[in-house]
Amino acid sequence: MGWRSTLVTLALLVPLLVACGGDDGGDAISWQPGLPAATMPSSSGEEPTATTAPNEEGEAAPTESGEESPAEPTETTAAQVTPPDAGPTGRLLTDEELAQYQPNELGKILVIEYHQFTNDPSEVAQFTRTYDSFRADLQWLYENGYYVVSMREVIENRITAPAGKKPFVMTFDDSPVNQFRFLVGGDGSLTVDPGSAVGIMEEFFAAHPDFGRGGMFGVLPNACFDTGVGGNESDQAQYCAQKISFLIDNGYEVENHTLTHSGIYDVEDDFFLEEIGGAIEALREYDSRVEATIFVVPFGMYPALETRQQQREWMRNGFEWNGTQYKLIGSLMVGSEPAFSPASDEWDSMWIYRIQMCDCSDVGGFGWDDYWQSVVTNDPGMIYVSDGNPDTITVPENAATGLLGNISEDTASTHEIIRY
Ligand SMILES: [Zn+2]
Repeated sequence: MGWRSTLVTLALLVPLLVACGGDDGGDAISWQPGLPAATMPSSSGEEPTATTAPNEEGEAAPTESGEESPAEPTETTAAQVTPPDAGPTGRLLTDEELAQYQPNELGKILVIEYHQFTNDPSEVAQFTRTYDSFRADLQWLYENGYYVVSMREVIENRITAPAGKKPFVMTFDDSPVNQFRFLVGGDGSLTVDPGSAVGIMEEFFAAHPDFGRGGMFGVLPNACFDTGVGGNESDQAQYCAQKISFLIDNGYEVENHTLTHSGIYDVEDDFFLEEIGGAIEALREYDSRVEATIFVVPFGMYPALETRQQQREWMRNGFEWNGTQYKLIGSLMVGSEPAFSPASDEWDSMWIYRIQMCDCSDVGGFGWDDYWQSVVTNDPGMIYVSDGNPDTITVPENAATGLLGNISEDTASTHEIIRY
């Protein structure tokens, strides 16, 4: 079954999984009727996520076996150990290069989503992944020609991946300590714990300089890499500023996930503004270079369509809080499929899809391990392949525009369009 028909099935039958990890293993999970791409809202569209309150809880279901094998390579990739060569960057491709690299900049982009990490397979759940699985994810993505880019460059439609590479974005929610821990030396010196997610990425990026570099963190200013699955580590709280600065210094993004991880589905305006504007202010106090204008919507629950339309307008067009004007550039959902290309007329920066990195078969399906990994493997034509040039948008004549959309007017006015 192709992914198109599957999506239709999903639209009819399967609720989106919407949740964001809490402080510990007892994460609350909210189930909401959701809408996949086939019924994706436009700016004036239907309520895309929430019709239920965020505290309708389910159990965070561990995988049945408790044994992680999510990253088993599919048959088509088992023999592949080195990625395809990267093509040129920053110039037009020749006809021969177009044939070689086959760019498709209307293809979809993987924006993958992590929360908690653990070394204990028995703790694996929808929002908790083992470090070994994370390492396997990186290896699989590398071997299959994916290339790390920033969320910002995707939103700005200025993707820098080399020709022939598939840009993707790693996102990390909730700033648990298992994502980023410092080891403290006897002399007080700080080093990145190589066993934390940031340490694992640093090692992988260093060993694979043709993989790109980066990752976007939705950081909670008041729970800044000091709690999480595996236990609280309150002594790590004092290093929040250093961690944020490390991230910025090394090509990562520090973005907005509200001040206190509160649901914003149905809240008063002052509270809404403080949660988002206050997070920007608090994070910038740690490091003034923080942007925090990409908003990871808690629980994937946007302000209620009927009663909180003003708040949606603020999310899209900007708002004032505490005497300062702020403008978000994009908002991320919790689920649950590849994102549209920012060059597509289906793209909406306020509704950016992500893929949960889990075996989600026990919690409704459509996670990476149980679904999307095989889909993107078996249907590579759906995935964005870069032409290496942020100034141009290159699309094959036979692109599946019915599924991917068409080049937007905005893109056509800012980029040279190349068809081949
Ligand atoms: Zn969250």
